[in-house]
Amino acid sequence: MAGKILISACLMGLPVRYDGSAKPLLHEAVSRWREEGRLVTFCPELAGGFSIPRPAAEIERAMDGGDVLDGSARVIEASGRDVSDGFVEGARHALEIARENGCRHALLIDGSPSCGSGFVYDGSFSGKRQAGEGVTSAYLRRHSISVFAHTEVERLVAELAAEDAIPS
Ligand code: SF4
Repeated sequence: MAGKILISACLMGLPVRYDGSAKPLLHEAVSRWREEGRLVTFCPELAGGFSIPRPAAEIERAMDGGDVLDGSARVIEASGRDVSDGFVEGARHALEIARENGCRHALLIDGSPSCGSGFVYDGSFSGKRQAGEGVTSAYLRRHSISVFAHTEVERLVAELAAEDAIPS
């Protein structure tokens, strides 16, 4: 039986982003996985106690989610309010849900301070990107969940096909 995939709720069309919007991911493979019941829809920030809408948040000082987990950086709102605890809590819930559902892969939207896996914003609230991962992606990866960005569906398809080809 092919494994399940944890997916960012906003990619599934749920309007849960900080500004109340969604970012539906239209891709044939995603539609197929949805029909096969293989997608586990999850929003770390809602699980961390945040509401919709909520102020935008970024990881400070050009650091990333791993630094937040290590306690050497904070997730902050533009006002300077420290919201790190909610982001870490959301990451922990994401891992729980992934494990409960047997997910070994996650498909998360890039750029988010939670779900980013290739880039995040640099904490200056000026739209400047930098390489790095969000808090949930870092936490999942530290616990052996393979995280893919929404731009990497084809790579995920290839990895799943390669795993399915290995005799169990
Ligand atoms: Fe989407 Fe992740 Fe942000 Fe939730 S935390 S709105 S799933 S990017």
